Order: sequence, then structure tokens, then C-alpha cells
Amino acid sequence: MTIAQHLQQVNQQIQQCCIKAGRNPTDVSLLAVSKTKPIDDILTAHQLGQRAFGENYVQEGVDKIEYCRQQGIELEWHFIGSLQSNKTRLVAEYFDWYQTLSRAKIADRLNEQRSPYRQPLNVLIQINISHEDSKSGIEPQDMLSLAQHLTTLPNLRLRGLMAIPEATEDTQQQLIVFEKMQTLFHRLQQTFPTQPIDTLSLGMSGDMESAIRCGSTMVRIGTAIFGQR
Ligand SMILES: *Cc1c(COP(=O)(O)O)cnc(C)c1O
Repeated sequence: MTIAQHLQQVNQQIQQCCIKAGRNPTDVSLLAVSKTKPIDDILTAHQLGQRAFGENYVQEGVDKIEYCRQQGIELEWHFIGSLQSNKTRLVAEYFDWYQTLSRAKIADRLNEQRSPYRQPLNVLIQINISHEDSKSGIEPQDMLSLAQHLTTLPNLRLRGLMAIPEATEDTQQQLIVFEKMQTLFHRLQQTFPTQPIDTLSLGMSGDMESAIRCGSTMVRIGTAIFGQR
């Protein structure tokens, strides 16, 4: 199958999951995860109407963003990998979203390095929801204090939460974890009612249906669009 067919299939799947969950299909957006894939694949997806792309490696993402800028192609770029503090400047200068925030120190650097003349960098706090040692993200009990700190940084804009739960095919298990995320998301919205907190980045190819049932507003899909890496 081509990227066009894959993309259409994924969009249909999102739509079906929304209908099944009693939600409006326009409430869930698709982040096309293009890490390790060539720029031509991104351009193909863009021609088919896809606008938001996720990258995990700073330099690779910057190269793709540079190319698109030179071509005058306006896309929305999300950094979704782990970020070392010596690479924050490139994220602050090039990306539109940073989804894996878990440290105040990284937030401070991004805030300093983001130009005040640009739109603020949209950020999501990453929650270590499955309590896996290997995964990054903060513990749920630390969410509000990090969020409070973010409200003091004018060049960042807190938009919500993201998580990469432990992979499981057990739907019940998926739902338990996603419901915890939904609860945290509501708590964040209620605690900071004046902040534009509207994004819950949850769900990948194998658990999209459960994620959408639990209020995800953005699913992150790579392989099902662009093929195996
Ligand atoms: C790679 C990646 C994805 C997409 O994974 P696929 O299995 O290719 O769909 C989603 N989210 C994050 C954070 C990723 O790193």
C-alpha cells in the first residue's frame, strides 16, 4: 500500500473510533510521526492534507524543517523524543511543539532560547504513567508543581499532557492507564483554568481506540502511515 492509502486508512480509523466513543471526529488530530523517514514521505503526506509531523531526533528534525522552510511549505513540527539540555536551543528555534517536557531546567532553557517575537513554544508535560523506570516523564504527583512553574515562563505555552504507556494488547489494561491520564488532564485544566490546556497526546497504532475513548485529542502514528522503520 502507498502512503496515501495508509494515511486514508488511519484517518478513517480515527473517525470510527470517535464515532464509537460518541465524540466529534474533529476533536482528535493526527500527528504523523516521521522520524527516520525521508523528506519525500513528509511531502507526500503534506500533499494529502497532513499538517502536523513528529520527530524524535533534533538534528534530523531541524534538517527537515529547514528544507520545508526553504520550499515555503508551512507545517507544524512536534518534538517527541528525549532532549538533552545541550540541544534545547535547536528545539526552541525550530519546533512548534515540545511534547516530552519533564524537567524544570529544560523548560527554563527553552524559555530563554525561544524568541519573544515568535509564537510561544507549545509544551506538553510527559507523565510516566506506567511507572516504568526506563521511560522518561514525571510522576503524576509532580505534575502540578511543574505546571505551576511553566505559568511563569512567557515564551512557553502549556497545552496539556502526553504519555507513552507500557505497550500491551490487553484493552482493559490500556483503559486503566488512559483513564488515569484523563483524570490528571482534568485536574490540570481545573487547577489552571486560565491556561489554554486543550491537548491530551495519547494513543499509537495499537491502542488508539482505548485512547480516544479516554479523551485523547491527538494520536501519534508512525509505522501505520510510513511503514516499518
Ligand atoms: C515513534 C513514536 C511514535 C510512533 O510509533 P509507531 O509505532 O511508529 O506508530 C509515537 N510516539 C512516540 C513518542 C514515538 O517515539
